[in-house]
Amino acid sequence: MDCIFCGIVKKNIESNILYEDEDVLAFKDVNPAAPVHFLVIPKKHIESLYELNEQDFNLIAKVFEVIKKLAKDLDLKDGLRVINNCKKDGGQTVGHIHFHVLAKRQLSWPPG
Ligand code: 5GP
Ligand code: ZN
Repeated sequence: MDCIFCGIVKKNIESNILYEDEDVLAFKDVNPAAPVHFLVIPKKHIESLYELNEQDFNLIAKVFEVIKKLAKDLDLKDGLRVINNCKKDGGQTVGHIHFHVLAKRQLSWPPG
């Protein structure tokens, strides 16, 4: 299977890892859109929100636990934004579910 993020999980592709456990990986986005921009993924290959099954939702809960932990560790006192781009209209370009975390600048709303 040709998935960039599975390659990052397997360490075949280099990345800047911020957190790792048996289920979840967090690493810096290679093309940051904010001073802090990292991605949090379940290690399991799931294409998008639409392919999540009932047993996968505990992995998504773990993703959010990791986001909260990193927010504390990185001292993101002023807040952050979590984004999941899903499929074409959502602007998803990598077909392995991931949650963007952006922080350390005032973000605009609504997004473009
Ligand atoms: P999407 O558009 O699918 O929501 O987001 C994919 C994100 O993955 C983009 O922000 C892009 O910069 C990031 N990305 C794509 N390829 C790589 C890579 O090889 N390494 C890292 N660290 N990030 C990547
Ligand atoms: Zn994958």
